[in-house]
Amino acid sequence: MNIKQIQKKYNTEAKCLSFLEKLRWGKAVTCTYCSSANTKRLKSEPQRHHCNTCQRNFSVKVGTIFEGTRYPLTDWFLLIGMMLNAKRGISAKQLQRNMGCTYKTAWYTAMRVRSAMIDDCRYALQNIVEMDEAYVGGKPRKGNKPVDNEPNISTVTNKRGRGTAKTPVVGIVERNGKVVLKVIEKLTSRNLLAMLKENVDTKNAIVVTDEFKSYKAFDKQVEHLVINHKKQFSKGVVHTNTIEGFWSIVKNSIKGQYVALSKKYLPLYLVQAQYIYNSRNFTGNLFEEYLKQAVSDEKEMLYYKPARSVKSIVYPKKRKESVCS
Ligand SMILES: [Zn+2]
Repeated sequence: MNIKQIQKKYNTEAKCLSFLEKLRWGKAVTCTYCSSANTKRLKSEPQRHHCNTCQRNFSVKVGTIFEGTRYPLTDWFLLIGMMLNAKRGISAKQLQRNMGCTYKTAWYTAMRVRSAMIDDCRYALQNIVEMDEAYVGGKPRKGNKPVDNEPNISTVTNKRGRGTAKTPVVGIVERNGKVVLKVIEKLTSRNLLAMLKENVDTKNAIVVTDEFKSYKAFDKQVEHLVINHKKQFSKGVVHTNTIEGFWSIVKNSIKGQYVALSKKYLPLYLVQAQYIYNSRNFTGNLFEEYLKQAVSDEKEMLYYKPARSVKSIVYPKKRKESVCS
């Protein structure tokens, strides 16, 4: 949906709320605290409900990204629309200008929107799969603690690629399929293999990587093709151009939109990049699909609170058992 359509269709708070109620509960309202179906609508406030079992009042916002904010839902919807349509990302500063709100509101709201983009699906990528790593985010500054075994920070500051002090992010992409991203601090064979096994159907996949030594361990576990970038960049189907193309989107969006990202919040920006990429071929209404995700999985849905460790939100320990397509 484009911004104009959202503005027209969801122009009042009541319309937004009843749409969220429809997505979350259908016709039968269930208590957000105790899941009881024995509820009634409050006469004084038609958008709130009362639970006859636990005697608490609640609205559809409880337990979702919309909980505990006074930002109008009509504005939330517009902001979500802007973020979903921004294929190269959008900064809080830009959202502030578009929405006419404060920077703080734009930032927190955008972070919550990202937290509902978290994909807790377990993918089993198949066919030809490319795996590669990229180094993103800010360089270490004066006063930052030195990296292990690198006592002199000035020597690592300007280094590019492997050995840099930037944050390593590993990506696996199925050609014409989905991408999976993860921040991995130490690029050891063990860590990379664990990520591979978690996200790739190793029996039905051919994995293409570059010549990085940590990928050598793949040879015994999966059909593994290596392209030596020192010699050539592609040899028939053996190339990592899909994942390299994805990295260029990520890096350009950081450079162009966000300018700088801290390591702490990087995972949430990666969540957004992954979500936008994976829904690129989605033909339905992405705006509604997103909201459905944002109000479902009530108990598992974590809304963003700045005080918490971002990592625990982005990589929830509990993952869905079923494999997503
Ligand atoms: Zn209840």
